[in-house]
Amino acid sequence: MVLSTAKNLLLIGGGHSHALVLHYWRSLPGVDLTLISENSTTPYSGMVPGYIAGFYDREECFIDLEELCHRSGAHFIKDRVTALDLDSQTVRITDRSLSFDLVSLDIGSSPLVPDSVSSPWVIPVKPIGQFLARWEEIRQIHRPLTIAIVGGGAGGVELAFAIASKLQNSQIHLIHQGKNLLPSHNDWVQQKALQKLEARGIKVHLNNAVVQVKDQILSSHTGFHLTCDFVLWVTQARGASWLRSSGLTLDDRDFILVNNCLRSVSHPFVFASGDIASLVNCPLPKAGVFAVRQGLPLYRNLRRSLHNQSLVPFRPPVNYLSLIGTGDGRAIASWGRWGGRRAVAMACQKLYRSAVYGKIREAHTPSNCFSVLEEIRTYVAFSETLSLFGRRD
Ligand SMILES: Cc1cc2nc3c(=O)[nH]c(=O)nc-3n(C[C@H](O)[C@H](O)[C@H](O)COP(=O)(O)OP(=O)(O)OC[C@H]3O[C@@H](n4cnc5c(N)ncnc54)[C@H](O)[C@@H]3O)c2cc1C
Repeated sequence: MVLSTAKNLLLIGGGHSHALVLHYWRSLPGVDLTLISENSTTPYSGMVPGYIAGFYDREECFIDLEELCHRSGAHFIKDRVTALDLDSQTVRITDRSLSFDLVSLDIGSSPLVPDSVSSPWVIPVKPIGQFLARWEEIRQIHRPLTIAIVGGGAGGVELAFAIASKLQNSQIHLIHQGKNLLPSHNDWVQQKALQKLEARGIKVHLNNAVVQVKDQILSSHTGFHLTCDFVLWVTQARGASWLRSSGLTLDDRDFILVNNCLRSVSHPFVFASGDIASLVNCPLPKAGVFAVRQGLPLYRNLRRSLHNQSLVPFRPPVNYLSLIGTGDGRAIASWGRWGGRRAVAMACQKLYRSAVYGKIREAHTPSNCFSVLEEIRTYVAFSETLSLFGRRD
C-alpha cells in the first residue's frame, strides 16, 4: 500500500530492537527511514562478557549498523540526539534539527553513578561501547591489578567471572549492597554463582553499599575500604536525562512509559523498546533478551502505525532463560523457579553451549553482521521453544 503523503520514520539509537527492525525492513513506498546512532556499530550484549574473557574478537560482537541501513535502504546519521521536541516533532542533533512523523527510541540505559563516587577510575559499564574502549586500555596494563566491580546483578557477576578469567594474576572484588547476589534469580542460582565466584578466587562483599571513591580508595557504608586500580560500576540503570524536558511520560527512573504495543502512553507517534522502555502494566528487568524479543513487534507496529492499522501487542514471556557466563566457556542457567533444579539447569546449560554458544563461535566472521542477527533470532527461537514447556507461577 502506498501512503498518500510521504512520511519520515526516525529510529533513535542503534540498540538491539532497532538492529532487528532494520534487518526485517522492506522498503515501504512513501516512507523515508533514518537511523541516528552515536556509533556506527553496536555491541551484542550477550557476547560482551565472552569478549572480555577473550572468547571472541571485538569485530565478532559488534553489529554493523551502517551496513544494515545500507541493505535496508535506510539513511544513517552518525550523531547523538540531545533533545526531542514533541510539539514541532523534531529531534536535535549536533548542528541541526530533523523532523519526523513517527519516531522510535532504542537508546539503552546507563548506570547511575553518584557524584560522591565519580572519578577517572570509576568506569560505568554502559554505554557498553564506551566501556569496551576503557577495557582495551585496562587489558594493555601488564601488571597485576585490583579491580572492584560494584553491583551484583547478572551484568556484575558475569563481568567478574570474565575479568578473572582474562586477568588471571589480578584481584577481583565484587561488591553488592544486598544480602544475595543475583536478586532477581532463584536461590539455587544465587548459591551456585557465589560458590563458583569464591572458587575462582573472586572476593565477594555482600551487604556493602559503596558510598565514596576518592584517590582510588573505595569506601562502603559499613566502613569497608579497598584500594583499587579501577572500579567498574554495574548498578541499577536509568534513562537518558535529556528525555525529562521532552514532555514524554516517564517512570521514576526516566524510562519511557509504553503500552504493550510499545507505544508511548502520552504520545501516540512515539514508540520505544529495549532498556529505555518501561511497560506500564508489566515492568521488565533491563536485559538485552527483551530488547531482542521486542524487535519484531516493534517492526510490525511501526509499519502498522504508518498505515493507521491496529497494533499487535508484545507479550513478555512468563519465564525466560538467563545464562550467566562463568568465564570458562560454561554458564549457569536460570529459568524462573526451574533454575533451582540442578538437572534442569544443567540441561539448559548443555543445550545453551551446544545450541547457542558454540554456534556463535563457529558462525561469526568479522564482516558478517547478519550472522550475529541470525544468532539473536536463534536465541529467541531457542528460548521460545523452551518456554513452551514453561511452568506458570
Ligand atoms: C557486562 C554486561 C553484560 C550483559 N549481558 C547480558 C546478557 O548476557 N543478556 C542480556 O539479556 N542482557 C545483558 N546485559 C544487559 C544488556 O546490555 C542491555 O539490557 C541491552 O544492551 C539493552 O539493549 P537496548 O537495545 O535497550 O540498548 P543498547 O544495546 O544499550 O543500545 C543503545 C544504543 O543507542 C545508542 N544511543 C544511546 N543514546 C543515544 C543518543 N542520544 N543518540 C543516538 N544514539 C544513542 C548507544 O550508543 C547504543 O548503541 C548485559 C549488560 C552488561 C553491562
